[in-house]
Amino acid sequence: MGTRVQRLLIATTNRDKLAEIRRVLGDAAPELITLRDRPAVEEPEETGASFEENARLKALYYNQTLASETADAEYTLAEDSGLEIDALDGAPGIHSARFVRPDASYLEKFAEIFRRLAGMPDAPRTARFVCAVAVVHKGQVVFETRGTIEGEIAEAPRGTGGFGYDPVFYYPPYGLTLGEVSAEQKIAVAHRGVAIRSFAGWLRAGDVDGAKQKKRETHE
Ligand code: IMP
Repeated sequence: MGTRVQRLLIATTNRDKLAEIRRVLGDAAPELITLRDRPAVEEPEETGASFEENARLKALYYNQTLASETADAEYTLAEDSGLEIDALDGAPGIHSARFVRPDASYLEKFAEIFRRLAGMPDAPRTARFVCAVAVVHKGQVVFETRGTIEGEIAEAPRGTGGFGYDPVFYYPPYGLTLGEVSAEQKIAVAHRGVAIRSFAGWLRAGDVDGAKQKKRETHE
């Protein structure tokens, strides 16, 4: 049985994230709309203590705030992501976008990472990107997943591809940073690709109907 997700609101204002999500969903996607297709609303405060909590909070907020008269057909997907560096106890983590200062450039963010790591020359440089995805339908979380990619902090930023921390994220199997690879190479292995492919699998499997079926069974 097919899925009933006819329209998906991707609740992000980040063009880079949106481009990656579109790339992964490709032709398999239901009708995709973005926050730009809806009246402008205030962004919610990301008060969660984890990527998952923030993804859920954003998906619930935008689903509730922007629910249209066709809410039955519409699902809302939000994601929260960031870089965890083991030697820095997981920093910048959920604060990745605001690391150093909310308006700091990525060169400043990189410099701060290198400064902190320079103080611990024997520490491992292992790190990961994390992407938590939450999907909400009519006020209920109906799907959640987490994608990660394991790598290392490079000795210096390299490459101009991707966005955010990609130039300092060295991915050993490629022998390159994610700033040095193509968009296709990045999404094939990176956290957002992993999470959105898992969501695409859920869509294809028609788990939406499965979930509804389960609900009916429990209520009977
Ligand atoms: P959010 O909008 O609160 O989820 O912030 C996510 C932040 O994590 C972004 O602004 C980037 O700094 C960082 N980030 C998330 N995903 C990526 C990625 O794929 N490459 C590089 N940086 C990323």
